[in-house]
Amino acid sequence: MFDKILIANRGEIALRVIRAAREMGIKSVAVHSTADADAMHVRMADESVCIGPAPSSQSYLSKAAIISACEITGAQAVHPGYGFLSENAAFAQALEDHGITFIGPSAEHIRIMGDKITAKVTAKELGIPVVPGSDGGVPDFETARTVAEEIGYPVIIKATAGGGGRGMKVAANATELEVAFRTARSEAKNAFGNDEVYMEKYLQRPRHIEIQVFGDGKGGAVHLGERDCSLQRRHQKVFEEAPGPAITPKLRSEIGTICANAMKKLKYGGAGTIEFLYEDGRFYFIEMNTRLQVEHPVTEAIFGVDLVREQIRVASGLPLSFTQDELEINGHAIEVRINAEKIPAFSPCPGRITQFHAPGGLGVRMDSAIYDGYRIPPYYDSLIGKLIVHGRDRPEALARLKRALSELIIDGIDTSIPLFHMLLAEPDIQNGEYNIHWLEKWLEKQFS
Ligand code: ADP
Repeated sequence: MFDKILIANRGEIALRVIRAAREMGIKSVAVHSTADADAMHVRMADESVCIGPAPSSQSYLSKAAIISACEITGAQAVHPGYGFLSENAAFAQALEDHGITFIGPSAEHIRIMGDKITAKVTAKELGIPVVPGSDGGVPDFETARTVAEEIGYPVIIKATAGGGGRGMKVAANATELEVAFRTARSEAKNAFGNDEVYMEKYLQRPRHIEIQVFGDGKGGAVHLGERDCSLQRRHQKVFEEAPGPAITPKLRSEIGTICANAMKKLKYGGAGTIEFLYEDGRFYFIEMNTRLQVEHPVTEAIFGVDLVREQIRVASGLPLSFTQDELEINGHAIEVRINAEKIPAFSPCPGRITQFHAPGGLGVRMDSAIYDGYRIPPYYDSLIGKLIVHGRDRPEALARLKRALSELIIDGIDTSIPLFHMLLAEPDIQNGEYNIHWLEKWLEKQFS
């Protein structure tokens, strides 16, 4: 086992990793930009190193600075958190070249899944159901029309190099397709420097269901059920729950087994998430994230496992500490993302927090790196905390969420907290009846 690990991240996820390390008796090294000198992750870690100026391109994304920080402090492994360098195959490779362990899958697996077309082809080969669509890139409009006629309208055109919900266009018929195809290509070229696009059947009311997988890197793998992350705004998740209200034990076991078997075949190591759209009893693969997800705590709550601890164990060469049969779902968990932003414009709202009070009590977890007097720097993501509740069943989790939100105080800045008070009053949310378009439609009705 490692003596010391470095966390190449900031905010709540850096704290999350430091906590797991401390419980395992492992020393932690925080890295930070000059803008984060007084951040909580720096205070909480055993050691810290300043790795550059405020812009993340010169600090949290600087591979050289992070590797130097490992060498200065003697850290034997790096946990990348999510975002930043967490899905950067070159970073995983560079660490390995320096004899430092990347706490995550192999550079090869990151590379395969990082390219959307290769990921889809690989998923299909591994027996994972995928959305009907083009076999790879679509070079011209004629091909696009042929593909659309085969799979049926509406279709979605996506940038191969896209990400973060950007670079997608929907077309309902051949006339729309011509415009959508050309716009998608020129937008992809401008945004990602690569105009390759591919096509899929556009699902009209799917849920976003993702399966948590874990591999030991040696051919052993398990699944930890699903999370329903359908409540999204501009393809960004805002509310996540597990188990999924629409998923039966039979469906879970079927898709979970397919995913775990795929990871066994790949000899995948570490945590991963296989994302699907789910409609009418069928799952359609959209992508795989080769890292820990923001919403991992809902899975931890219902299975009673520490996924970060498991990541560190597997990276150090130890086996998984649970078998599939030992993994049993207990109750229901919900996470809401607390962002520093002004509703309804969702404009970022950095600034100084004058008062912070975290909720507590049975079944309540608050993962956040903010504190009284903390000044949120304007350079990074607007996520400032995650409130996770766990109850014996969904109604209890919802009641607990409402109660915990009423205790949570963040003064001095605007946050997304009022949004959740409003959402919890909605019958569709109470009944678990929503799909990936629900939130956008609701926002339009509420605020236009
Ligand atoms: P990104 O990597 O940019 O997040 P994804 O392929 O994961 O892109 O898709 C992001 C979101 O876009 C999905 O969660 C879903 O809301 C929507 N989406 C993607 N593909 C389809 C599809 N075939 N039909 C309907 N919606 C889709």
